[in-house]
Amino acid sequence: MRQETTGPPVPRRSDLGELWRHLRPHWRAMLAGAALGLVGNAVALAQPMAAKQVIEAVGGGGIDLGPVVLLAALVVLGGILAAGGAYLLERMAARVVRRVRGQMVRHLVRLRVEAVDRPGDLISRVTADTTLLSRVATRAVADSANAVLMIVGAVALMAVLDAVLLAITVLVFAVILGVAATAMPRIARAQEKVQRSVGDIGSGLERMLGAFRTMKASGTEEAESGRIDRAAERAMHDAVTTAKWTAVARVAAGLATQTAFLAVLGVGGARVAAGDLEVSSLIAFLLYLFNMAQPLGALVQGATELQGGLAAVRRIREVEDLPVEEASSGAAGARRPRPEGPASGSFEDVRFGYGAEPVLDGVSFEFQAGSVVAIVGESGGGKTTAFSLLERFYDPDGGVVRLDGADLREWPLDRLRAQIGYVEQDAPMLQGTLRENLLYSAPESRDDELWEVLEKTRLAEMVAALPQGVETPVGHRGTNLSGGQKQRIAIARALLRRPRLLLLDEATSQLDAANEKALRETIAEVAGETTVLLIAHRLSTVVDADEVLVFERGRIRARGTHGELIAGDEVYRRFAGAHSEKGFPCHRES
Ligand code: ADP
Ligand code: MG
Repeated sequence: MRQETTGPPVPRRSDLGELWRHLRPHWRAMLAGAALGLVGNAVALAQPMAAKQVIEAVGGGGIDLGPVVLLAALVVLGGILAAGGAYLLERMAARVVRRVRGQMVRHLVRLRVEAVDRPGDLISRVTADTTLLSRVATRAVADSANAVLMIVGAVALMAVLDAVLLAITVLVFAVILGVAATAMPRIARAQEKVQRSVGDIGSGLERMLGAFRTMKASGTEEAESGRIDRAAERAMHDAVTTAKWTAVARVAAGLATQTAFLAVLGVGGARVAAGDLEVSSLIAFLLYLFNMAQPLGALVQGATELQGGLAAVRRIREVEDLPVEEASSGAAGARRPRPEGPASGSFEDVRFGYGAEPVLDGVSFEFQAGSVVAIVGESGGGKTTAFSLLERFYDPDGGVVRLDGADLREWPLDRLRAQIGYVEQDAPMLQGTLRENLLYSAPESRDDELWEVLEKTRLAEMVAALPQGVETPVGHRGTNLSGGQKQRIAIARALLRRPRLLLLDEATSQLDAANEKALRETIAEVAGETTVLLIAHRLSTVVDADEVLVFERGRIRARGTHGELIAGDEVYRRFAGAHSEKGFPCHRES
C-alpha cells in the first residue's frame, strides 16, 4: 500500500550539518557580509584615536585639516561598511528563506495524500520556521563571528602580555562557561517547544477557519479560540523559558569575566610584587579581559538563536522526510503520446486497506471503452476507495488495477492522471473566478471549448445570466455557490480535461430533479467520448448504465444491468424501490 519515497535521497546529517546544507549555497554572501561588518567595526574602533588627534589639533590652535578629514572619512567609511555588511547578511537571509520555502513547497505538492494531516502545522513550518532558520544566518552567524574574532584577538594579545595570566583566565572561563553550557539543551528544548506550539496555532486556525460556519452555528467560538489561545500560551511560556536560560547563561558569562578579573588581579599582583611582571602589562591584560565581556554576551545570544535555528532545521527536515509520490514509475507509455479515445480498464482481485482492516477485499470488474458503469452500495462500502486506486492515491495491497490493459503502476503518474477526469465526492472550489475554477485542470482550454462544456453540463444558461459571467468570483470554498452548482462546475472542470475516463463520485447527491436530468443528458452525451465510472446515489443515473456494480463491505455483491439486478438482487431492489429519491441507505458513515 505504501510506496517508497523516491527522489534523490538526502543523506541524514547532524543538525549543524543540516543547517549548513541550507546556508552553504549562500556562503559567499555570508562571508562577505560578516567580513564587511568586521572591518566596519575595526574602523569604528579607530575613530576615538582620530578624534583624539582632532582635539589635539584644535587645542594646538592650528588649522590643520588633516585629522578632521581623517575622522570624517573614518566615520563615513565605518558607517558604510557596517551598514553594507548588515545589508548583505539580510539579503542573504531573505534568499535563504526564499530558497528553503521554494524547496519545501515543491516537496509539499508532491506529498502522498495521506501525508497531509495537519495542514496548519505544515504552513507554520513553511512560514515561521524558515524565518528562524534565516535568523541564524544573520544574527547568530555574523554576531558570533564578530565576537569570536574579538575574543580570539584579545586572547592572542593577552598571550603576548603574559602566558600565566592567560592560563588562569582560560581555566576560569572554561569552568564557568562549561557550567553555563548546560543551559543550552534547555534552551534548545524550550525553543523547539515554542516552534511546536506555533505549529499548533497554525493547526488550530486551520481547523477553525475551515469550519467557520459550523463553528458559528454550533456556538463554539469560545472553545475554538480557547484551543488556539492555549497554544499561544504554551508558546509564550516556552519563549519565557528560553529567555530565562539565556539570561542565566549571560550572567554566567559576566561572572566568568569578574572571577577571572579577581583571579588575574590576585595572581598578577603577586607576580608584580615579586618583580616577575610589569604593572603596565597587568593593567593592559585586565583591560583586554574586560573587553571580552561584551562579545561573550553576544556569543551566548548567538548560541540561543542557533538553538532556534537548529529546531527549525529539524522541523523543516521532518517536512522533507514526508513521503512523496513517485513522479514517474514504469515504462508503459513513458514517451508515447497520450492515448486518445475512451479508456478500458479493470480491477483484478484487488485488495486494499488503509490500516489492518481490508476496505477492498478481492474486487474484480472490467469496464469497456466508452461504457457507463455505475457503482452503488452502502456508505463505507469502499466505492470512493476504488476511485482513489484508479487515481493512484494509493496502490493496492494485492491484485492489479489496469488501464488499457497496463498495470497502473507502469504509467508515469502525471500521464496516468492526465487521462482521467475526477470529480471528488465533495469537490472543492478554489478561491478565484468561475473561469479559473473551470480551467483549473485544463488551463490551456479555449473559450469555445469552455462554452461547449458549459453547454454539455447545462451550466451555460446559468453562467451567462450572471452579471460577470465566467469572471464571477467564487468565494472561499465556493461559499457563494449552491451544492448542486458546485458539483456541476466540478464536472465541467473534469470534462475540460477531455478525459478518457471520467470518475464521478456521488455527483448526483446534491442535485435536484431538474439538475439531475441535466446530468443524465450530460452523461449520455459524453458517453461515447469517454468511459464513465459513476458512484451513484440516485436511481435515475443508474438505469441508463451499461453495468451496475453493487458494493458491499469491500466486495462486489452483485453486478448486471438495472433490469437484471432488479430481478436478481434483493439489496439492489431495495435501493431501486425505496431510494429512487433519497439515495442509498447508509450503514456506516463514509
Ligand atoms: P464509500 O465511498 O463506499 O462510502 P469509502 O471508500 O469512502 O466508502 O470508505 C471505505 C472505508 O474506508 C470506510 O470504512 C472508511 O471509514 C475507510 N476510509 C476511507 N478513507 C479513509 C482514509 N483516508 N483513511 C482511513 N480510512 C479510510
Ligand atoms: Mg464515498
